[in-house]
Amino acid sequence: MIRASDRHLAWGRAHRHRHAVARPAGPAEAVAALRAAGRPALAYGRGRSYGDSCLNADGLLLETDRLDRFVAFDPATGLLEAQAGVTLAGVLAHVCRPAADGSAWFPAVLPGTRWVTLGGALANDVHGKNHHREGSFGCHVPGFTLLRGDGRVLACSALDNPELYRATIGGLGLTGLVLDLKLRLRRVPGLMLAVEEIRTGSLDEFYAISAESEAGWEYAVAWVDCRARGREVGRGIFSRANHAPGPIGPVAPPEPRLRVPLTPPFPPLNRLTLSLLNALYHRRLGWRRRTLRLSPYAPVLFPLDAIAGWNRLYGRRGFYQYQCVLPPGSARDAVAEMLDLVASTGEGSFLAVLKTMGERRSPGLLSFPMPGTTLALDLANRGPATLSLLDRLDAITRAARGRVYPAKDGRMSASTFAAGQPGLERFRASVDPAFSSSFWRRAGGDVARAEPLTLAEAA
Ligand SMILES: Cc1cc2nc3c(=O)[nH]c(=O)nc-3n(C[C@H](O)[C@H](O)[C@H](O)COP(=O)(O)OP(=O)(O)OC[C@H]3O[C@@H](n4cnc5c(N)ncnc54)[C@H](O)[C@@H]3O)c2cc1C
Repeated sequence: MIRASDRHLAWGRAHRHRHAVARPAGPAEAVAALRAAGRPALAYGRGRSYGDSCLNADGLLLETDRLDRFVAFDPATGLLEAQAGVTLAGVLAHVCRPAADGSAWFPAVLPGTRWVTLGGALANDVHGKNHHREGSFGCHVPGFTLLRGDGRVLACSALDNPELYRATIGGLGLTGLVLDLKLRLRRVPGLMLAVEEIRTGSLDEFYAISAESEAGWEYAVAWVDCRARGREVGRGIFSRANHAPGPIGPVAPPEPRLRVPLTPPFPPLNRLTLSLLNALYHRRLGWRRRTLRLSPYAPVLFPLDAIAGWNRLYGRRGFYQYQCVLPPGSARDAVAEMLDLVASTGEGSFLAVLKTMGERRSPGLLSFPMPGTTLALDLANRGPATLSLLDRLDAITRAARGRVYPAKDGRMSASTFAAGQPGLERFRASVDPAFSSSFWRRAGGDVARAEPLTLAEAA
């Protein structure tokens, strides 16, 4: 059944569109929905992408929440087979159980929230705080099955349909609907993390600690204080962590204790409160320069999952996230310029994160990660002023030969996207004509624009 919806949003809540929505439980229902809708389709996982890469204005969304079965798990090798709508939260809860000695199978790559589906993680080829060690999600997916718009179900791997395999990893849902996939988990010595936090005073200090952490620390990421300017640009708190051996630690992350149930009319996250939050967070370690503690993995790997619906705190207009990755030669100066620019506009960002990415290459043609530094910033949507700031950030990224992350984007131009993606022309050949997205029609130069859809028409 296809229903009409204006409730399918992306995480940033800045775009509001109408969609026709189907919830197929398998390939036959998905094909029936594609034929009945007669408009471009797009898979929709949990809508944890921030901008419009998971949206398909006036088109069909194939919601994957009914593709939620675990197919097989081999405890000898850690190879998991599951349908694409299974979430990483589900994998952590049902598969990652510790043995008597505390060791456990664990996803090699986890993004900053566990509420993403395996299909969504593959389509954005997500990365985690350990990119310098493990690369991106697609590096751990040896194969999957893909439903194409013409009804064919294709096995894809490095050997079977290798071009579709490479195009679908990081392929933004444009090559078809992933039905199920294989994921290689890895053995960790325990589910608790030994976490060290270090106060940093500048960007140079971030780079020094980051370089020093690469060999000995599995997870490494820094929060940056967005108020800092001049020589203090880049100051913040560097966090690094390793799995600690031992039998202690909770089996699965707890449910969030706090919830934002409604969108407040006056958004609590405004310039003043953001500046205050930055100041408070920066003083978190008190007088200490370093702290060391043992922690369950969830608060370290998914700190924002502690407050369900925190994205509503930006109010009805929502927010944008800007994330770019910049190659090693130009990254330091470009990051400094971006942070200085954001501070000069007074557009506070509470979530400003810096991380060094590693050399491990993904098989994905359009994969976002590359060696260098990635910077992510949340910016409240204040209309044209915010869009113009984002354009200026794009200009810095382009000049530095970097790229912008589509999973976080809702406004970059086709030329910015193309400038950062040398694999784009090759990728186009694998795009399924029955699939499209709002992102692709803007940034991919796709001409198969969907006709406006009325809710009555879709119902
Ligand atoms: C708090 C937070 C922290 C985050 N931290 C990180 C991070 O550290 N690193 C990172 O890389 N990302 C991060 N993200 C982004 C998030 O991991 C990605 O956007 C992820 O892809 C969202 O998954 P989803 O299941 O919600 O998919 P959606 O957002 O619904 O869809 C994402 C894309 O996947 C496609 N897709 C979904 N299912 C399928 C399928 N079955 N077949 C084909 N295509 C499919 C969609 O069409 C769309 O193009 C974060 C997001 C949040 C909200």
